[in-house]
Amino acid sequence: MKAAGSWSDPRRGSPLVAARVSAHRTSATRANREAAGDPGLPWRQAAGAELARRGAEGSDRGREPAALPARRRMMEPAVSLAVCALLFLLWVRVKGLEFVLIHQRWVFVCLFLLPLSLIFDIYYYVRAWVVFKLSSAPRLHEQRVRDIQKQVREWKEQGSKTFMCTGRPGWLTVSLRVGKYKKTHKNIMINLMDILEVDTKKQIVRVEPLVTMGQVTALLTSIGWTLPVLPELDDLTVGGLIMGTGIESSSHKYGLFQHICTAYELVLADGSFVRCTPSENSDLFYAVPWSCGTLGFLVAAEIRIIPAKKYVKLRFEPVQGLEAICAKFTHESQRQENHFVEGLLYSLDEAVIMTGVMTDEVEPSKLNSIGNYYKPWFFKHVENYLKTNREGLEYIPLRHYYHRHTRSIFWELQDIIPFGNNPIFRYLFGWMVPPKISLLKLTQGETLRKLYEQHHVVQDMLVPMKCLQQALHTFQNDIHVYPIWLCPFILPSQPGLVHPKGNEAELYIDIGAYGEPRVKHFEARSCMRQLEKFVRSVHGFQMLYADCYMNREEFWEMFDGSLYHKLREKLGCQDAFPEVYDKICKAARH
Ligand SMILES: Cc1cc2nc3c(=O)[nH]c(=O)nc-3n(C[C@H](O)[C@H](O)[C@H](O)COP(=O)(O)OP(=O)(O)OC[C@H]3O[C@@H](n4cnc5c(N)ncnc54)[C@H](O)[C@@H]3O)c2cc1C
Repeated sequence: MKAAGSWSDPRRGSPLVAARVSAHRTSATRANREAAGDPGLPWRQAAGAELARRGAEGSDRGREPAALPARRRMMEPAVSLAVCALLFLLWVRVKGLEFVLIHQRWVFVCLFLLPLSLIFDIYYYVRAWVVFKLSSAPRLHEQRVRDIQKQVREWKEQGSKTFMCTGRPGWLTVSLRVGKYKKTHKNIMINLMDILEVDTKKQIVRVEPLVTMGQVTALLTSIGWTLPVLPELDDLTVGGLIMGTGIESSSHKYGLFQHICTAYELVLADGSFVRCTPSENSDLFYAVPWSCGTLGFLVAAEIRIIPAKKYVKLRFEPVQGLEAICAKFTHESQRQENHFVEGLLYSLDEAVIMTGVMTDEVEPSKLNSIGNYYKPWFFKHVENYLKTNREGLEYIPLRHYYHRHTRSIFWELQDIIPFGNNPIFRYLFGWMVPPKISLLKLTQGETLRKLYEQHHVVQDMLVPMKCLQQALHTFQNDIHVYPIWLCPFILPSQPGLVHPKGNEAELYIDIGAYGEPRVKHFEARSCMRQLEKFVRSVHGFQMLYADCYMNREEFWEMFDGSLYHKLREKLGCQDAFPEVYDKICKAARH
């Protein structure tokens, strides 16, 4: 379900529309033909006319030659296709499959992964729609939770021989790495992927953990509501965003994804069910975020909702000079009038800073539906403001804004389909983009995985805003990847793994680096360790989905484990779940 408004999709909506248009055309043609007394397809019509003519001439001899050109016309595209396929297979054979998969990945992605991703999306869309229409989820939820409890109790009865983890295959997650533990731990199947309830009076939505952000926006924006923090990629799940981390350009107002949650429902290590809120089982409530499923299994969450408006009025401001960038960015992040603040840094001293407010009014000449499949990739569109050094104002439909980086997976897709932003490609095939991250992972193979590990960085580091300038210098020295994503957030002073050093809320910033490092002699381990050291030194945090090269001591220097360890002991987690470090460290994933 990836839909703007009522179950249609800004990206994928187009093929549905196209399908509708082509269905309409087909029936119109048929109607015309029927009106003209035409019984069938054009080639049959032509052949029939010819036969009729010859029949009228009183001859049957023309039957064969008349049918031939029509058949030939049918055959020609099939023959061309077969020749192309043959040439392609020959090329693959000469170059070797591995060479093609690694160096010309776009071939595989465009031919196989894009259509497959589309089928995947359609399946999930239809499933979510049916579930929503039949309201089956709330009825089945309790039964499904009981089933999870049963699995945990059975694991206990069988002697708790190994740790437990969620049964979701590693390749299905957004994180680029797959946990090795999935093969050795007891997999608990958690088939919970539905929105349970929207309570507009209490301003709460209750959801199951596998609900995706695409699902949430499709439903909520269609009824005039939204999440205060709506992480960007369609496929991010509520469970992953709570147990891992979630952030968006509204986080300077509302905090991280965990900070808009008001209750968690969990199945614990002994199979019992517990609900926790800031006032009920509050220790557990604050310990759950970032714990990566090592305190229990999340089975539902309650999340705040706020009224949505139709558009985001977005200002683009190119800024030159690092000092000016940091000052402007800090200033805009502190202004509560801004609903959204985001920066894209294209080099150490060139950035575009975007600030937005939600609105129902629109100046039609400035409307830009950036989510449409034929539109330029968002980061490229933004870069134009820098290149032309001019400020801009646009009205972007809300859901298009939320998923603005989805089509290009921020800027990751340019490495996979280098011509993906070319207008011809966008108009012809853009409606199938992006390929699913899960399918990209599933099909990347060992060689490519290792190449990626050594020559590609995907990291989000969260550092205090006051250290932004120093942090950007360090990023430049240690990895040198551009563009860089800048997303501010307020970090409340609450118990748990992640909080500011002092007793007051502090403004932080997420620095996201995704791409190929340009430092000379880049060596993933040593460069990342250097960066991690810096982040620790300024009381920052590394997002746990990314490659983590810290040792255990360094990890617990970065994160506050006091409440976490207390609860692990109290809830009997030590024999049931690995420690969070053992789940996310470099050695635990491949
Ligand atoms: C290319 C890329 C782009 C990204 N973009 C963004 C972005 O725009 N915004 C953003 O905020 N983040 C982003 N992230 C990071 C993302 O927030 C994390 O990967 C996050 O953990 C969500 O991923 P997921 O939904 O696939 O969760 P998973 O990887 O499935 O889960 C994360 C952790 O939570 C645990 N978990 C999940 N569900 C449960 C459950 N029900 N019970 C117990 N434990 C559970 C899992 O075991 C795992 O340890 C991005 C990451 C990548 C790689």
